[in-house]
Amino acid sequence: MSDLKDRILIVGAGPVGLIAALRLSQAGVPVTLFEKEDRLLDDPRAATTHPATLEMLDEIGMVAEAEKQGLVCEEFYFWDRPRDEIVAKFNHRLLADETKFPYVVQCEQYKLAKIALAMLNDYPDADVRFSHEVTGVRQDADSISVSVAGPDGTDTVSGTYLIGCDGGRSTIRKSTGIGFDGFTYEERFVVLSTPFDFEAERGCCYRNYYADPDEWCNLFKVSHNGPPGLWRAVFPCDVDLSEDEVLSDDAVQARMQKFFPKEGEYDIVHRNIYSINQRVASTFRLGRVLLAGDSAHLNNSIGGMGLNGGIHDAMNATEKLISVWRDEADDSVLDLYDVQRRTTTHEFTQAQTIANKKRLEAKDPESRAKNLQELREIAADPERARAFLMGTSMISAVRRASTLGA
Ligand SMILES: Cc1cc2nc3c(=O)[nH]c(=O)nc-3n(C[C@H](O)[C@H](O)[C@H](O)COP(=O)(O)OP(=O)(O)OC[C@H]3O[C@@H](n4cnc5c(N)ncnc54)[C@H](O)[C@@H]3O)c2cc1C
Repeated sequence: MSDLKDRILIVGAGPVGLIAALRLSQAGVPVTLFEKEDRLLDDPRAATTHPATLEMLDEIGMVAEAEKQGLVCEEFYFWDRPRDEIVAKFNHRLLADETKFPYVVQCEQYKLAKIALAMLNDYPDADVRFSHEVTGVRQDADSISVSVAGPDGTDTVSGTYLIGCDGGRSTIRKSTGIGFDGFTYEERFVVLSTPFDFEAERGCCYRNYYADPDEWCNLFKVSHNGPPGLWRAVFPCDVDLSEDEVLSDDAVQARMQKFFPKEGEYDIVHRNIYSINQRVASTFRLGRVLLAGDSAHLNNSIGGMGLNGGIHDAMNATEKLISVWRDEADDSVLDLYDVQRRTTTHEFTQAQTIANKKRLEAKDPESRAKNLQELREIAADPERARAFLMGTSMISAVRRASTLGA
């Protein structure tokens, strides 16, 4: 049994766990982070970092490197896919007097994780243990302990608080019996990456939403390993189809050629398929356990809010843990973490991502025409466009959280 009792334990070295560890380390709080894999995962998932999140990454000194490794983009477009026509253009410059970052940065989540991990090297009290899987958690009035399986066998490690950042299938959430209500969509998302230049060939900006009653699409650019970068196209697909049927060369080429016919085959660099959930944990705090990131909430990726919300959790939770660790606040302040983050997850992230999907997939011609007309009108009115951008940029959610429970 290892006694790390003044330490904060973190489970999961995804971007959320690493950012939480970095923030705590910068405040002088010792952390031990357990990651079951032997290295950081680099599958192509989140890429969009919104203005509200850039403000937070700025506080911990990560923005300059994220901008260097990513793509700065001010605009996003809504398209009517059947007519191949731009319906509405939004530009974050309208938020120039609201935020230091009136743009998003398209920076893949594995790059954010690597930046945070490299920065953690400067803190000798930050102990990151790869190939260590947490298999269970127990707590009492004075401490928390986790069972860990590592290369040298199993151990029980105790600390003062624990942040469960161990993803959607979270062992921490399940071990503590915290509910995870919501639903799973009866379709999956298929993600295909290609270097084909949709900006030059199709007039796209770096972030595009295509409404289509038959097959909506979300198309955005990431910098990947440098120029020319990659374009990622996200489409819905039928749950009844096997992975082979969806991801075979023929199926992938057919899907891309239907989206934008071109001579010759598409060069496909990644192909993935994901189940999509809308779920929120019944509490983000149980005694000495806090949940953050995907362990606390899941949502569809249209609008790019999942990881952003996870980073907001990490920053909110660590702010409160730092004050408790320093004896500057009673630990009831951790309840405020639950209230602020869980409420805004429901009110903003869940509500917006569900609405985003409905808007893109609308089938009934009347509601579809109404949705697109509404977007046109919002984009044409600077005040309404600004209010719309306050939501998409997640600034409204963060401001709302700060008013809760105060
Ligand atoms: C196709 C797709 C596109 C997306 N696009 C966006 C986007 O543009 N913007 C956005 O904000 N979000 C997006 N998301 C969501 C985003 O990827 C997730 O919200 C994000 O990965 C959550 O980060 P996390 O650190 O909470 O969890 P994860 O990244 O899942 O990391 C969890 C870590 O915990 C480790 N772990 C798990 N169990 C244990 C254990 N028992 N012991 C030790 N370690 C453990 C795992 O190995 C992993 O490293 C997208 C998701 C998908 C699928």
